[in-house]
Amino acid sequence: MKDINYIFNESKSKSKNKIYKKFLKLYTPTLSLVFVILVMMITIECNRVMHIIYFAILIIINLIICFYMFKRKEDNYKLQIASDIFENSREAILVTDGKQNIIVVNKAFQRITGYSIEDVIGKKPSYFKSGIHGKEFYKKMWNDINEKGMWTGEIYDRRKSGELYPKFLTISLINNKEDNSVNYVGIFEDVTEIKKKETYIEQLKRFDEVTGLANYFQLINMLEDMSREEEGILICINIANYSDLNAICSSESLNSIMVSISKEIIAVFKYAYVTARTDKDEFILVIKNRLDLDQLISYINKLIDKLKEPIHIENEEIFISFSMGITEIKKENEEAIEDFIQNGRIAMEFAKSQGNYNYKFYSNHLKDRYLYEVKIENNLRRAIENNEFHIKYQPQVDIYNEKVVGAEALLRWENQELGTVTPDRFISVAEKTGLIKEIGEWVIDSVCKFIKEDMVSIKSKVPISINISPVQFKSQDIHKIVKGYVDRYNIPANMLEIEITEGVIIENREEINDKLIKLKEMGINIALDDFGTGYSSLSYLRKMEIDKIKIDREFIKDYPKGDDGAISKIIVNLSKELGTKVIAEGVETVEQLEFMKEINCALIQGYYYSPPLEKKEFIKFIAKH
Ligand code: C2E
Ligand code: CA
Ligand code: CA
Repeated sequence: MKDINYIFNESKSKSKNKIYKKFLKLYTPTLSLVFVILVMMITIECNRVMHIIYFAILIIINLIICFYMFKRKEDNYKLQIASDIFENSREAILVTDGKQNIIVVNKAFQRITGYSIEDVIGKKPSYFKSGIHGKEFYKKMWNDINEKGMWTGEIYDRRKSGELYPKFLTISLINNKEDNSVNYVGIFEDVTEIKKKETYIEQLKRFDEVTGLANYFQLINMLEDMSREEEGILICINIANYSDLNAICSSESLNSIMVSISKEIIAVFKYAYVTARTDKDEFILVIKNRLDLDQLISYINKLIDKLKEPIHIENEEIFISFSMGITEIKKENEEAIEDFIQNGRIAMEFAKSQGNYNYKFYSNHLKDRYLYEVKIENNLRRAIENNEFHIKYQPQVDIYNEKVVGAEALLRWENQELGTVTPDRFISVAEKTGLIKEIGEWVIDSVCKFIKEDMVSIKSKVPISINISPVQFKSQDIHKIVKGYVDRYNIPANMLEIEITEGVIIENREEINDKLIKLKEMGINIALDDFGTGYSSLSYLRKMEIDKIKIDREFIKDYPKGDDGAISKIIVNLSKELGTKVIAEGVETVEQLEFMKEINCALIQGYYYSPPLEKKEFIKFIAKH
């Protein structure tokens, strides 16, 4: 069997021959010399000097012989090391002769390729060709080897099993000066594992690990490609309750939820050009070519229906909340790509502000509103410290005796850049950004201060009603905050009323009711604002600590032309049944006032009696009534 020893033995025997030749070359004359000397010593009576000379010559000859003997030993030692390195190298090594016939391979070669030495001896390296590199590739490779003496690069070959594998290969040309022969030595490393890791990293760079969908960067890449030639539609889907799910589910369950959402999206939009998960709570899909609008809406409704269905995880039914924004992708330059995504997000935000399961189409009008909201947000952050807020008070009047029975505190904002901003515009922004907590507290503080400084001094017992945003009510211990201000200003707690909306009491009823009970224990009344515009479930109303129901202006404003007042009537009857007070908001006209009398709604808040008033005017109004 030919193995590594073959080539090394061959080279060993070559070097052995060399040394013997030299040895003989030198030793033959030495022998003849010794012979001559011996003959001379025997035959001639020589003097001492000659003797020493002869002797020295003999020593030199012997030293030369010794040197060559030592050199041979050293060569053998070097060869042994080379042989060991060759055999034990982690890299595969293959040596061919000048005609590229394999003459020897090492163990690593056998391990990586699966071929034994017998399989490959005499074969050419092209025997392992993968077939995936073209002629040009090999031509360049051999050019480099023959011209530069070396080639290095990545190449795919096949193992004995037929499996394709990548290797990092260096081929060197070795010229043997002795006999002008040539060898090629190939040294390579199997880079399959490295490649796998690289592919995985590449994968991570471009795809979402959980759902396998494209990520933001991949989406951008694909949009860049697409928008050069085609138009399309982009749909942005936001999972609004992602953070709640994150809080209650294990990470495996959360991942399963995300996977099932992604599957629903793919199932409905089968022909999407790309579906991406661009953030933890955001999916974006792109459809090439503009769909017919009806068709698009029917797909969107189908997806809404699918996503509304519960997801079953760990024997639990999970519901997701979501909203969608839709925008067009026009053929534009690449810089516009991120704008398309931004537009989808703007539309989604507006859909979200209108509640769950909504979708909105992007328009320039939406963009203007969005930019205006951004301005509101930026200015709102400094509104308190810049002293830009103040409060107006709108009287609530008993129509039978025209006495003021209460007032609602309504926030006003005057900003240098934006002018007067109505609460309908800025409260939602304050809620979205969380600024509402700080602003809400400012209102409580200001109202308590007003009661202390202005109301108590005129001995008025008219309670002031404060609007508490659902965001603030749910996230804070509102009873503690209110108590803090009541104590600080030392005012009677029953001079305060709190207005909450239906949205507050529909979720976490026990927790909310607990807060309401604590407020009531302090002596503070609770009014249910905008009644009838939200959930209006009677069952919860019976159980909650509500003192007063407010009929929203919505049910009054069109009376008598566009509305027969039926809903107002129902709400009044309901409040009687529940034993709560009832007050009508937004009463402006005599007809509306008369109607309220007719249905026995005694309390009125509206322009008929008064718009919201500045402090001083309000105090005057109380004095009058
Ligand atoms: P709301 O609680 O329903 O307040 C009643 C709104 O109706 C007020 O608008 C009031 O000025 C208006 N209004 C009352 N009577 C009439 C009428 O006869 N005709 C017309 N056209 N409007 C009438 P405003 O002050 O613009 O407040 C709008 C909303 O902003 C409020 O609705 C309330 O939800 C919110 N808001 C106001 N102040 C605060 C506050 O301090 N905190 C919180 N969280 N929200 C507030
Ligand atoms: Ca209110
Ligand atoms: Ca209201």
